[in-house]
Amino acid sequence: MEPSRGECLGKTSASPTGKSPRLSARPRARPTAASLKRLVTQIEACRICRDQPNGARLAHEPRPVLQVDRRARLAISGQAPGTRVHASGRPFTDPSGDRLRSWLGIGPEIFYDAARVAIVPMGFCFPGLDAKGGDLPPRKECAPAWRARVFEQLPNVELLLLIGQYAQRWHLAPGEGRAATLTQTVMDWRQILQREDEDGPRLLPLPHPSWRNNAWLKVHPWFEAELLPELRKQVERLTA
Ligand code: SF4
Repeated sequence: MEPSRGECLGKTSASPTGKSPRLSARPRARPTAASLKRLVTQIEACRICRDQPNGARLAHEPRPVLQVDRRARLAISGQAPGTRVHASGRPFTDPSGDRLRSWLGIGPEIFYDAARVAIVPMGFCFPGLDAKGGDLPPRKECAPAWRARVFEQLPNVELLLLIGQYAQRWHLAPGEGRAATLTQTVMDWRQILQREDEDGPRLLPLPHPSWRNNAWLKVHPWFEAELLPELRKQVERLTA
């Protein structure tokens, strides 16, 4: 899913609850491969946004897209599938995915190895297009319905990459990592990465790898010079 320009770089707004529903990800019951498989089957059958929408009904048949395996130590949370991912059924099969893999320093063979990389977007289904042809935001029904349950089944995740404002808004509370703008939140990446949370993985905020952020990348050279080397180091360690 390609973010709009305002969404990439604009102010982040407060979550509806005024606090961030962080991952209370440590499981109530011991997760197993079978329990994760059961959950994925439930998600694949989910039709909440078609049959019980919170607002406008999803205009097309839902096609949830995620990649999970309980062995994964690295997780990626982006926004939601765009048209290409909706068609392929595989996450990040688009130019943003190419750029993200170059940021991570890994190729498709590692990126699509679910045992090494979990991909859990904020919305699992393509949300549709707005009047200007841009992707709509991730469906707001999805994260409350599924997010904590998915991460309960991923007990080995040590680092979660928060790509874009929706993932950052969900996982970072105001004053606890989330700043007023996405730019400032990403600039604070060192402090956020250093934080330890016994209930969840470490977190690292990133901008969206969309072409829409080319200008942002140009005026923030520290991102490629300082953040990406650390990101690649972490990814290499966690996907070895
Ligand atoms: S976006 Fe999420 S909540 Fe909505 S239909 Fe798809 S899986 Fe269900």
